[in-house]
Amino acid sequence: MYRPHPFSWVPADGQRHATTDPKPRHGYHGVAVRTLCSKKVTVDSSELGWLWPTCPSCNTGAHELAGVPEAADSED
Ligand SMILES: [Zn+2]
Repeated sequence: MYRPHPFSWVPADGQRHATTDPKPRHGYHGVAVRTLCSKKVTVDSSELGWLWPTCPSCNTGAHELAGVPEAADSED
């Protein structure tokens, strides 16, 4: 059975971070959240934000929360 992961990806501060904060009804944009890398950031879900690189610390934390091993570096 599929269970949604207990976190969401949010673009903020030049990187895509993951947060376990509940999603506000109007979405995360402009909302201050606590990220998995223990930063307090304000979400910027503009179009550009989704092109930012993934925060390595949040990526690791997200994999732990999801209960899956981190994928090895994929080859391009
Ligand atoms: Zn992060």
